[in-house]
Amino acid sequence: MTHELICINCPMGCALTAQVEGGKVISVSGNTCPRGEQYAKTELTAPVRTVTTTMITSGGKPVPVKTKEPIPKEKIFDVVAAIKASTAPLPVKMGDVVLSDAAGTGVDIVSARSLNNA
Ligand code: SF4
Repeated sequence: MTHELICINCPMGCALTAQVEGGKVISVSGNTCPRGEQYAKTELTAPVRTVTTTMITSGGKPVPVKTKEPIPKEKIFDVVAAIKASTAPLPVKMGDVVLSDAAGTGVDIVSARSLNNA
């Protein structure tokens, strides 16, 4: 079966064509670099995403946060719910873990910005 997809790893957005047989990606074309081939293989077998959102802090202001690593696509809603149910203690530094093992994924949520108490 032929799949058409767009690589989202960089702004070039290469149009990829992948052949899948027996649940395996047997060929990828249209990619300008090796990351496109890897993207197609992952997207068609076990898609993952990096999640970026905000978490409320103990001071009441939101701070931008993101998953430290990409998570399985089907876990996005659970992870966002876990982030929204949590509070980041202030002060927080960029890169600090503000939630461990989000929604049982084994992936931590880290702050994408530093924020002081004020
Ligand atoms: S294949 Fe490479 S160059 Fe093309 S969009 Fe993906 S990362 Fe960018």
